Amino acid sequence: MKGFDKRKDQVKKIAMKLKVLIVFLILITSCKGVSQEKETSSETETQKTTAFAVQKTEAEWKKELTDAQFYVLRKAATENPFTSDLLDNKKEGVYVCAGCGTEVFKSATKFDSGTGWPSFYEEIEGNVAYDVDYKIGYKRTEEHCATCGGHLGHVFEDGPEPTGERHCINGVALKFVAKN
Ligand code: FE
Repeated sequence: MKGFDKRKDQVKKIAMKLKVLIVFLILITSCKGVSQEKETSSETETQKTTAFAVQKTEAEWKKELTDAQFYVLRKAATENPFTSDLLDNKKEGVYVCAGCGTEVFKSATKFDSGTGWPSFYEEIEGNVAYDVDYKIGYKRTEEHCATCGGHLGHVFEDGPEPTGERHCINGVALKFVAKN
């Protein structure tokens, strides 16, 4: 009889452990479910906010832009450093999006960052928008034209005064309009 009780106790203990395990598994799966749901909803939010005023099909953009402009603006590629004609441009004027002509940077905010890409310490407020990308393994703030969504470059926090920002921009994504 004692042996029977002992076995009964063992069975009870095993059943208890199983219950704990099941509850644990349910918790893990439900957490995963929630986080996946969140990811999906944030994707939808991004899609909603990417309703840009200027919208064209990929074929239309390809037709209008040079290959280099297309890959940078529409595919978020990065031009090789020290290749842009605008890198050393010190003329007074405004830099516009090469995709749609929206004014994105003023010449007064341009500075030599030494990186090989045209750099600005401030954007023309409201004319660019930001996103986050993890393309090269760490978090970066991506910057794009707020009108057509064209990729411009990235923003870093190691720029000069007065903002401390370094807008690291692909020259090919810009066009310079000199002040008359
Ligand atoms: Fe644009």
